[in-house]
Amino acid sequence: MTLIDGDEISARVRDEVSREISDLDYTPRLVAVLMSDDPASETYVRMKHQAAEEVGVDSETIDIDPEETEEALLDVIDDLNQDEDVDGILVQLPLPDHVDEHAALDAVAPEKDVDGFHPENKGRLMDGRPRMVPATPRGVHRMLQEADVEVDGADVTIVGRSNIVGKPLAALLTNHDATVTVCHSHTDDLAAHTRRADVVVAAVGVAEMIDAEMVAEGATVIDVGINRVDADNDKGYELVGDVAFDEVKEVAGAITPVPGGVGPMTVACLMENTVEAARQRRKN
Ligand code: NDP
Repeated sequence: MTLIDGDEISARVRDEVSREISDLDYTPRLVAVLMSDDPASETYVRMKHQAAEEVGVDSETIDIDPEETEEALLDVIDDLNQDEDVDGILVQLPLPDHVDEHAALDAVAPEKDVDGFHPENKGRLMDGRPRMVPATPRGVHRMLQEADVEVDGADVTIVGRSNIVGKPLAALLTNHDATVTVCHSHTDDLAAHTRRADVVVAAVGVAEMIDAEMVAEGATVIDVGINRVDADNDKGYELVGDVAFDEVKEVAGAITPVPGGVGPMTVACLMENTVEAARQRRKN
């Protein structure tokens, strides 16, 4: 069994980005917009800043009170769209219930949309000529490449059809000639789909739901899930994936851990997107 080490691969990605930035005659600038008091969202934004600092991206967070109106958020996004010094904009999800998520994501200028969530960027990915590939799918694809897992012709089953993970990953891997099945909560006999896959990607948000019975001998298992479960430690919780790691590693040919798997890849690939956005916008 091969452990696909997201910490190690993401360090390599960050190193590549950092070298690329050192050759530029400007510093790419990323702005995160945070309209939430959720500690998990605050942690994610903090991790993105840390990565930005490490690779040499100039980054900042604009905090908007979650009680504020949708207009207030759209005004901030509009200002960032107009700001010539800003290369990348990310709107941290989830947004408060009274804010229309689509309205916010649609408002980000497509050329600054480093999350790849603007409909134009989603459409381009579907069309096989991507500009900004969402960071988590991009990270998953890079992990498969680094682990020498052949995607071309492979049967890939993705569990989860969200707009940020499952669907764009399906488009990306289809573009790379995989045969992709996308499963969700209405899927009949989920295990039948996962068991015949060469590659299983779990992006569900249900702790350890993919068990050893659901995975074929020798398959590659990529665990996108991040779930907090109660634990007898100082924090009172621990993070686990959507895959029952201890049992699945006994049957899988290769597997990603949680933590230290897809999570750090997502952050590193966001930095790649930021540099690409800067280069395309500044034309060098
Ligand atoms: P969503 O909640 O948006 O989507 C979950 C998907 O799983 C939905 O398509 C849902 O189906 C499907 N699903 C739920 N329950 C079942 C079930 N019992 N059987 C089959 N399918 C099911 O989640 P996200 O895509 O945003 O995130 C998924 C997980 O990945 C979460 O744990 C999240 O924290 C994590 N994540 C990790 C990232 C990283 O960097 N590592 C980045 C982003 C997310 P339906 O559509 O029918 O509701």
